[in-house]
Amino acid sequence: MLPDYQEFERRAEAVRQRIRTACERAGRDPGSVELLAVTKFFPPEAVAYAARFGLRAVGENRVQEAAEKRPLSPPGIAWELIGHLQSNKARLAASLFDRIQSADSEKLLTLLDRAAGELGRKLPVLLQVNSGRDPAKSGVEPDGAEALLAHALSLGSIRVDGLMAIAPLSDDPEVARRTFASLREIRDRLASGTGTALSVLSMGMSGDLEAAVAEGSTVVRVGSALFGSRS
Ligand SMILES: *Cc1c(COP(=O)(O)O)cnc(C)c1O
Repeated sequence: MLPDYQEFERRAEAVRQRIRTACERAGRDPGSVELLAVTKFFPPEAVAYAARFGLRAVGENRVQEAAEKRPLSPPGIAWELIGHLQSNKARLAASLFDRIQSADSEKLLTLLDRAAGELGRKLPVLLQVNSGRDPAKSGVEPDGAEALLAHALSLGSIRVDGLMAIAPLSDDPEVARRTFASLREIRDRLASGTGTALSVLSMGMSGDLEAAVAEGSTVVRVGSALFGSRS
């Protein structure tokens, strides 16, 4: 169940404080880490809370759910796709989302480019990299990231803002930390190799945002710490 707005506000302030503390430890500017509210499974009121709190964007992991919710939600907040995208939903996703964080194949990027071109827009994306080498996760394998970026950069209606990763489920916090460090290293290598800034690193969720900030995250995707359990 969705908490009331005052409770949401307390939780959002607490998450902001966690981000600030992690930034201080890492010697980073707290303004360099964005809080993305993950509203999946929650009603449009959750999006309204995020907007009222002043957040720039919400994250959703299913195209269909976002298509139903966005018309019922307040305007003035951006929507980002953070879940796996199937080819047959690429067209709808390109019209619905302000940014796709889960671009992970050449085929998908080609379809997104075509759809964005027809809509007369430039679609911002992040390339999702399976930097934790988790067989259960989507994302391009680290060895394929360079070729995927080259393909993305060849497309006229796609803009690549950076990279995204999800840490494997693990009881060992070092697994998440290594996953995030690996994404940053891949970004640094690709950025210097192509001269593209790739300034956005979307990594870290409710349970592991400190490790992500320590490794250079610029967007933490937080759901349960803001809205409660989704079950
Ligand atoms: C659900 C989800 C999140 C948010 O997870 P919480 O643990 O609830 O913060 C972040 N990223 C992705 C890709 C997700 O699917």
